[in-house]
Amino acid sequence: MAEQEKEATLPSKENFSEWYNDMLQIAEIMDVRYPVKGSYVWYPFGFSIRRNVYDIIRGLLDKDHQETMFPLLIPEHEFMKEAEHIKGFEEEVYWVLNGGTTPLDVKLALRPTSETAIYPMYRLWVRSHADLPLKLYQIVNTFRYETKHTRPLIRLREITSFKEAHTVHATWDEAASQVDEAIRLYIEFYKRLAIPVLPSKRPSWDKFPGADYTIAVDSLMPDGKTLQVGTAHHLGDNFAKTFDIKYEDVDGEQVYAHQTCYGVSERCIATLLSTHGDDKGLVLPPEIAPTQVVIIPIIFKEPEAVLNACNDVKAELEAAGVRVTIDDSDKRPGSKYYKWEMKGVPLRIEIGPRDLKNEAAMLARRDTGEKEQVPLASIKDEVISRFEIIQAALLEKATAELNERIFDCSTVDDVKEKVQDGIALVPWCGEEKCGLDLDEQAGAGILGIPTDMDEDGTYKCPICSKETRTRVYVARTY
Ligand SMILES: [Zn+2]
Repeated sequence: MAEQEKEATLPSKENFSEWYNDMLQIAEIMDVRYPVKGSYVWYPFGFSIRRNVYDIIRGLLDKDHQETMFPLLIPEHEFMKEAEHIKGFEEEVYWVLNGGTTPLDVKLALRPTSETAIYPMYRLWVRSHADLPLKLYQIVNTFRYETKHTRPLIRLREITSFKEAHTVHATWDEAASQVDEAIRLYIEFYKRLAIPVLPSKRPSWDKFPGADYTIAVDSLMPDGKTLQVGTAHHLGDNFAKTFDIKYEDVDGEQVYAHQTCYGVSERCIATLLSTHGDDKGLVLPPEIAPTQVVIIPIIFKEPEAVLNACNDVKAELEAAGVRVTIDDSDKRPGSKYYKWEMKGVPLRIEIGPRDLKNEAAMLARRDTGEKEQVPLASIKDEVISRFEIIQAALLEKATAELNERIFDCSTVDDVKEKVQDGIALVPWCGEEKCGLDLDEQAGAGILGIPTDMDEDGTYKCPICSKETRTRVYVARTY
């Protein structure tokens, strides 16, 4: 990959939108120059971050799910079976109409999501209660004809990295437990990215088309808007009835199955990069960083001794499973620091003749900029323990920032003001009309009812003044 000719600098993260766009290009995450609107190209460096992130999802799911892959093309007659589902997606579907110059007998949809690809097969696969629960997932691209402003990793016409899980259960209650389990799994996943997320039950008008209900997780972006970064849907037996997914129960009766589905897209990477990054570039949790340690030889005399020491440290760290590189290029140290800071490398080790004399090295943290001298003899342990410290520090900082930006609000004016900075927590009587009025008057949207909060207070709906024990998150959203 050609190096940046000049050291391009990022705009301040205060100007988040500009920072985000420039960061993707300068840190080599996504190239936006592909000539199809809403489709972007992963740079190899960005893709290696993606690989590390998706390895975490796979690791979490593989404990009791199996990975699979279904076709991209969905025949029209399957796609059109579930009425609500069609209504939810009809304006967003790409259709394949021709094979070469021959019009197709059956129109084929490019999957916007895979229920209608997977469930006709589930009909064939699910036979008996012994086949349940069935828990499969796939990580695939999906296509949606977005008419809103597209944005890399956030709003795409080709979603490149849609992790969708589809489960089948004997009963409604078992499916409900699976939805809770999916949300628990997402919270765990985001914890590994050092991102706190807020789970909430979406209002009925914002649930997945065809679902009984939807629980989603949102993260807070630096500009105060929230990003929906994971959803889990209880499908009830709605799709089972449409696609005739039945099993034989213990009494030999044929009964409809109950289903769930839950998804995460590359938005997880958008929030990862945006939450932790700073004016110098990316700040990556060690588990995610393609390069975890960069060693910079400080050479002005005794180059051989310094380089030998650097190679020894590299070999020792690699033997411990650390992803490490030596930057022995001819560039000045300052220019090397710039490069690796932009890439978010969690730790930098500097070794020069003076350090060698002390049998030590300088260790610099990317997240705080702190530098300290550590003994070469224990460098491996120093590095490994720093990784844990950095991971915890990133999560703690992001959690503190999130908590500071959740505001208790009791009036519409209050909500209007506070959503400029973050998330409003607002009483809601539960009436759809009040919810929609609140959205409109506040210029923001109801995310949902927090699922991890025990409410014991009594509040007043700011629209109708009715008493309620329920509050909802309201925010400006991506
Ligand atoms: Zn009300």
